[in-house]
Order: sequence, then structure tokens, then C-alpha cells
Amino acid sequence: MSYCLDLLNRKRIPTLEVSIGNLKMGGENPIRLQSMTTTDTMDTEKSVEQSIRMIDAGCELVRLTAPSKNEAENLGKIKQALTERGYSEPLVADIHFTPNAAEIAAKLVEKVRVNPGNYADKKKFEEIDYTDESYQAELRRIEEKFTPLVLLCKENKTAMRIGTNHGSLSDRILSRYGDTPEGMVESAFEFIRICEKNDFFNITISMKASNTLVMVQAYRLLVSDMLKNGRCYPLHLGVTEAGDGEDGRIKSAVGIGALLEDGIGDTIRVSLTEEPEFEIPVARKLAEKFDLSSIYPLPQFEGELPYNPFEYERRSTSEIHNIGGKHVPVVVADCSAKQTITPANFYGFGYNYSIQLDKWNLQDLAADYVYIGQNTLDFEVPGTLGVIVDFTRWKENYTSKAGFYPLINLNDLNDLAKNQQAFLALECTDELPLDLHEYSKLTVVLSTRFSNKTQLFRKVYIDLLNRKITNPVILKVENDTTDSETFQLYVSSDCGSLFIDGFGDGIWLKGTQPMTLINSTAFGILQATRTRISKTEYISCPSCGRTLFDLQETTAKIRARTSHLKGLKIGIMGCIVNGPGEMADADYGYVGTGPGKINLYKEKTVVRKNVPEEQAVQSLIELIKEHGDWVELV
Ligand code: SF4
Repeated sequence: MSYCLDLLNRKRIPTLEVSIGNLKMGGENPIRLQSMTTTDTMDTEKSVEQSIRMIDAGCELVRLTAPSKNEAENLGKIKQALTERGYSEPLVADIHFTPNAAEIAAKLVEKVRVNPGNYADKKKFEEIDYTDESYQAELRRIEEKFTPLVLLCKENKTAMRIGTNHGSLSDRILSRYGDTPEGMVESAFEFIRICEKNDFFNITISMKASNTLVMVQAYRLLVSDMLKNGRCYPLHLGVTEAGDGEDGRIKSAVGIGALLEDGIGDTIRVSLTEEPEFEIPVARKLAEKFDLSSIYPLPQFEGELPYNPFEYERRSTSEIHNIGGKHVPVVVADCSAKQTITPANFYGFGYNYSIQLDKWNLQDLAADYVYIGQNTLDFEVPGTLGVIVDFTRWKENYTSKAGFYPLINLNDLNDLAKNQQAFLALECTDELPLDLHEYSKLTVVLSTRFSNKTQLFRKVYIDLLNRKITNPVILKVENDTTDSETFQLYVSSDCGSLFIDGFGDGIWLKGTQPMTLINSTAFGILQATRTRISKTEYISCPSCGRTLFDLQETTAKIRARTSHLKGLKIGIMGCIVNGPGEMADADYGYVGTGPGKINLYKEKTVVRKNVPEEQAVQSLIELIKEHGDWVELV
């Protein structure tokens, strides 16, 4: 069961071409960039102005929320105003729970997005035991509710997106499939089958989740099923509630990048808790990442894949000190380019030296190893930090120094004692040494200078599994771009899918960016792939016309009070309609419920209702304290 055309060569999935007004999507068309307004759809002027800012930034498809018939009708006015201003980009109506709004919008705009989890179902969070008969009766009920929209879209040549969200699956799907990628795919197929039964094929599909593993696995499963069926609809990629700033960018690049690397994806929406026009350059960079000039040619992949791309299982590796085995992936900081290294240089990767106290303070994002190349250190390093040194320097200065380990290359292997803890620098294009498994304390540092990094790393992963070699592997990714956003997006995309597939016992990033940024990117990638949690996770929605408070400002306030609560997941959602479902696996939730009113959640349960907005952040902190998840800052 394959989910892409070639695991070792990026080939775009041959999807159907669909028409969204004058825009073609799928097939051979470029990857389309899109975003969603955050204005009230009833405010025509603001919606038009924001749409224009988005389009001017490169947005090819503008989505607006249509929570009721009024907003759906107002889309016509927005469309008309945009046309008068010379903008012909297609508009998309975003529908949840309101079929009648969808049916109005289908006549006014070029595309309608429906969520199969709530088009015909109300979310109750109830476990219901369906018999085969009652399940079939439910499907008939959906068909009755959904068919009129399908026929309207067909008649008006309106496109449709069937947009499944992990957090808003119907009780029916949850009862049969649980909260799983399989459930997400089936949720879409319930609606796809109805479209196909009515000979309506002008559809695109999405499988969004805020958990990148679930999201990637769901898209892969969907593609695998569509390839089997012989009809692939264009895919809309997105990680929901990715958050803002660096975290939002890294998380989006990990999820979206993992799929693009395998040729999956015809349109991208990066959901950031920022102004929608800021999403477009991020989406563009991801779409344009692929540099074909420095591809290392690999043969077509043939045979059995020795891991399951639809389920997470970490590659089983031997434990070497704090690397491999059950240890979380380690982070390696690279100081090798420095002329001399001082304690101050360690600040960038989480170690703060106090001269008065002669003491090191560790930050949450403290790296586990530092590579110093040919340098020497004339000060004592913190005991928790391992030091990696070039082999010649190690032999001269550090053979008997605890915590200092040599980095060797293939030619040095014969000079290394087989029980010496060391690191082997290996290019992905090197042959794996036949006797690698005999070096029981050797960690491989895998890198490549070619641009098809994901595929080259994956090839080595497959070889290691097939040969049952269990040495841990650190993925080293280098990128010399001078633009910090590009650096974060590209390195995240290069190695994100490897961590999602269970490969990687460590990460080593190298670039010309400041050390603090490189270090936080490394930890950010591990957090985004859920392989190492080192900070609070904010699952904040991008906001839309339903949003009932200033999401960006509130997210910043909550972040300022809670960013030290390592590992806690806090959902910050603009509205009660979709918020509780979309923040699916958050530990605590802050959800707008009416003007100036907030509901607070402990997991999926509302525990405080209608808290006045000005008291809600403090109330959230108290709630976290009551449940014993609060830690005082020292
Ligand atoms: S959760 Fe946020 S983005 Fe989603 S519908 Fe509500 S306000 Fe809009």
C-alpha cells in the first residue's frame, strides 16, 4: 500500500484538474496559495480591504466564513465590490453546521468548503453504539442533507472542498474508527461517495489536524485510497491551529513540508495566528522550496517498506549514554566555526554562566551536545553537556577527558576502539560500513549536501532497517540561507517527515543564523513532531469572521503567563462553534462563547462558563493551578 509514486524521488501525485472560477487547481498546475479572512463577513468594507491585502500578497483563493444565511448572502456583495475594484480571484465560503448557508453561497461564490464532521451532524462528544442498520440509516440521512448542495454546485459550476478536521469528526465516525487518521479519511469518503454518485467531481480534499503526525498519516492514507480507486482529487494542505511566530512556522513546515516532499499537495494554507496576508509568503516559500539543481539521483524505490508510514513507531536503536534507546532525540549545537570558544558562546544554546556564582544555569532549551571542531576549551563545561571534537584534536587533548567524544569519518574507523563512544560523520551517499554494528558505542551523524535531503535520509533509514543495524542516528541538516524564516521553514521541511516516521535519535542544525535561532529551531522541530516536548504548546486558531475576541493579543497574554509550563497544551479558540472540537487534544482551553465572554475547558469539559473576558486569562491560570499543573517561576 503506497501513498506516493516513489519514496525516493519526489513525483507529484497526478490529481484531477478542478476549476474554481477562473483558477485551475491540481493536475499540472502550480501549487496554489490561499488564506482566510479574519474579518466579520457582514462587514463588507473590512472584508474587501482585507481580501485585497491578501490578494496583493499573492493569495490566489480567498476564504471567508459563512456561519449563517446572512453572511452567505453578503458574500455576493463582497464579490461584487472586489470585481468593481478589479479583483477576480475566486472566493470560498467556509461552512460549518449550516447547509442552508452553503446552498446560498454555492450560487454566489466559486467554491464552498464543507466540514463532513459537522455538515449534517451536531457535535455532542457522545459515544454512541451504532448497529449496522442505524449506521446505514445515518448515512442515508447525510445523503439527504448533502445531495442538494452537490446538485447546486454541479449546476452552478461551483467547486467544493470536503475539509475534514481531526478535531471535529462526527460521533458516528468516532464510534467506529475513533479519533484516528482512518476515521478522518472515512469521514471525507462518506461525502466523496455522495459527490461521485451524482457525477460531481469538481472537488478538493483536506485532512487537517493540529497534531502533525495525525495530519501527515491521514493525508497519506487518503492518497493511498485514492490511488487505489484510480481517482485522485486535488489536495489542500494545512496544519490547523499551528499558532504564531516561530512555532507556527516550524509546525506548518513540518506537516506541510513532509507531504510536499512526497509530491502530495495542490494548494497550501498556512494557518498562523497572525494577519492572513502574512501567511502567504510562508506558503510561497514552502511551495517553492524544491531546488532541482542539486538533486542526487536515486533509483526508483522498489520492494517492501520496512516501516509503516501510516503509524508512528520509533526505529529501535541501542542506547549509547543519553542517545538512542528510549531517550528523547538529543540536540547538538555547532560552535565549530568560532575562532575561540568562551562560556558566553554557550548562551545561544541554553547555558548561562554566572561569573559571580561560578555556576552554569540551564534553560529549558539547553542542547545536549556541542560540537567544537578543532577548537579547545579552556574552561569547565556543565556536566550535562557532552562535547564532540574532531578526531585529531580529541587524540591530542581529550582522550582521557570525561564527556568529550571524537567525531570521526569513515577513514578513521579502523583507528577507533570498538567500545569507544564516538560519532561517525556519514554522508547519505556513502556506503554504510559493513561492520558498523560492531561499534557498539558509535552514533552516526548523517548529512548530505544535496537538496533531496528527505529522500536521501529516507534511503539510509530503509538500509539501516533492512540490515538490522541499531546504531543511533543524528540527522544533521545544513542551510546557509541568510533569511531566518527560510532557514526555519526549510530545515523543518527537510527532516520533519523523518522524525514523523520514527527516524532520528538527534538533530544537529547548522547555518549562518544566530545560535539562539538555530537552537530554538532544533527544539521546535522535535516539539512539532512530538518527539521531544520542551515547551508549552499553544493550539491557537488563526481566527476568522466568527472570532469573538482579539486572538493575537490574547494569545500573547496567555503565552506571557504560561510559557514556562513545559509540556502543557493550551487551546485558544475564537468561537464556541468550532473551537472545542478543533483544539482536540489540548489540556486546557480558552474559547470565545459570546461578545466579551469566555468558556474555559479542562480537556474536553467546560469547567467555567461565560467568564468576562477581562478576567478570563487570570481565571485560566487559577484553573491550571487547581489541577496541579502550575509551576511557579523562580
Ligand atoms: S475556531 Fe477560530 S478559525 Fe475556527 S471557526 Fe472558530 S473563530 Fe474561526
